[in-house]
Amino acid sequence: MAYRLAWAVFTVIISFGVLPVDLHAAKPSPVLERMRKDLFFLAGPECAGRGVSGPGIQKAADHIAAEFQAAGLKPAGKEGSYFQPFTITGSPQLGTPNTLTLTNPDGQKRELTYGQDFTPTGLTKPGKLDAELVFAGYGITAEKPAYDDYAGLKVAGKWVIVLRKSPNAGDPHGPFTQEQQSLATKAANARKHGAAGIIFVSHFSDGKDDPLMDFRYAAGVSAELPALHMKRSILAQLLAREKKILKDLETGIDEDLKPRSCPLPGWKANAVVSVVRPKIPAKNVVGVWEGGGPLAEETVVIGAHYDHLGTGEYGSLGGPSAKGVVHYGADDNASGTTGLIELARRFGASGQHTGRRIVFIAFSGEEIALLGSRHYVEHPLFPLDKTVFMLNMDMIGRVTPVESDAPAAAPGKTDSDKKDTGKADSDKKVMRDRLVIYGTGTAKGLDAFVDQAARPFDFQLLKVPGGTGPSDHDSFYRKKIPVLFFFTGTHRDYHRPSDTPDKINLPGMMKVIDLVEVAARHFAVVPQSPQYLVTQGGWSDPTDPNPRPGRMNMPKLGVMPGNYEATDGGVLVDDVTPGGAAEKGGIRKGDVIIAIAGKPVQNIGGYMNAMSTQKAGKAIPVIVLRKKDKITVQVTPTP
Ligand SMILES: [Zn+2]
Repeated sequence: MAYRLAWAVFTVIISFGVLPVDLHAAKPSPVLERMRKDLFFLAGPECAGRGVSGPGIQKAADHIAAEFQAAGLKPAGKEGSYFQPFTITGSPQLGTPNTLTLTNPDGQKRELTYGQDFTPTGLTKPGKLDAELVFAGYGITAEKPAYDDYAGLKVAGKWVIVLRKSPNAGDPHGPFTQEQQSLATKAANARKHGAAGIIFVSHFSDGKDDPLMDFRYAAGVSAELPALHMKRSILAQLLAREKKILKDLETGIDEDLKPRSCPLPGWKANAVVSVVRPKIPAKNVVGVWEGGGPLAEETVVIGAHYDHLGTGEYGSLGGPSAKGVVHYGADDNASGTTGLIELARRFGASGQHTGRRIVFIAFSGEEIALLGSRHYVEHPLFPLDKTVFMLNMDMIGRVTPVESDAPAAAPGKTDSDKKDTGKADSDKKVMRDRLVIYGTGTAKGLDAFVDQAARPFDFQLLKVPGGTGPSDHDSFYRKKIPVLFFFTGTHRDYHRPSDTPDKINLPGMMKVIDLVEVAARHFAVVPQSPQYLVTQGGWSDPTDPNPRPGRMNMPKLGVMPGNYEATDGGVLVDDVTPGGAAEKGGIRKGDVIIAIAGKPVQNIGGYMNAMSTQKAGKAIPVIVLRKKDKITVQVTPTP
């Protein structure tokens, strides 16, 4: 109780800007015990790593709902439940059947073997196509160098067989860029010339085993036409019938850089391609602490994602050995979820109140692409235009004391007193619990509020003004809602099976939760709703011990990538940041970025590499694929 009362007094004090008493002393263990229970359950074997399509996430959702109910929160989900269901479209997977039959000019049919002679590529569009075949060389149309495999070739409504890579592919200083060689560019070029399907064949430098591409290799960006990969030997046989030798064609092109494309009269290919995008049922867990009085119709959201990586099928940093192993996700994000449940208890226990309602949301699908929070802001359960603030907790379990340069606060001394004693204290290095708070620039006066609210906790506070970033507050910030995101730092167990509950600093975590409580109580009652501000500067992790050069303060393009898992085909723009560089430069949702400042972008890694060498404020050309058009726009990255 005591602790609670001191707490209540403190929150009132903070709203009126008076300095509080030191609260560190009072740590009621029953609170720690109930938090420990939640944490060890959520990050335990039963929840099995809370993968979105795994067995354990249902148990986690039921646990959160039961605790919301026990805390006295009202259900805010579907049909009086605590659940807001939504569907996750999984990454494309091969379905059945997948067939490819070649017919030669004499009408003889040859059925090829799926997985042995051919396979659909991750770019492929599902469907059936029975059409004539044309050999289109490397499938490249370029101004620099002047080279066009489609010159004089009739390909409308036909299959084009296209070699991977480019002429003189072995020469690192070869004339063709990576972007011109990328599968996505070649598929778009084929479509541009009216082809109805594309069959890739590996370059001779890919080795005589000529391995077929893994479906996931280019999964993520659809070519909008059937796209297969076929063995070289089959093309060689096909060309031989036309008295052509594949190797000679390649060598010839390498020598004089003249295309060797040709029709294949009488040849046809009939294919059926099946791709399924699994529909995974998911759900956010939502409970509400109703408001009262004039502000009752306004909302403050407190959120934390409860999903994690399951057994490491996607997003694991543990390497091949971690595949199939439970990733317990104690810090990421059983800690934030435990915080959410704990806050539900505290607010629920305070009963009726005058002020805004507080909506507690445990999001799913965060690890894939913030899917649960994006679903919520697209399908809000409470009016978004009356949602005045969002507080997000993600990885708040590894509070670490760090050396702090600010002198120790003399007990009971106020700022002004401190100055007198400053001299002696500054010599002694003080250890303080490190906490990162993002979003301090997303509302007027928010930075000062954070300083004041956090002072009694004596954190080593790292503030980042930006409201975007790899967690659920990002979805609300993009809807022009001020946000604060609480994070205690990255560590070597991140996204590995070793992120286990025994490593969680529970008392430290409780301090963070206490601070979130202060902020939430403040925004629930402050008469004036916070004024949203667009922030400059994106996300960076000030706690990352070995930030990759350039990544830490890499200039921002202001896009939200949509196909993290793809390794080729470019980066899909799933969203652009309001007022960001991309939006100003004319990049749109749905575009596929394939080159930045002349650097090829095949995947998220290529994107980061290209951006890490750019300068904020210096305009750069960005090439995007929009439908079948390749468009170059000028974009000025921001700090
Ligand atoms: Zn997380």
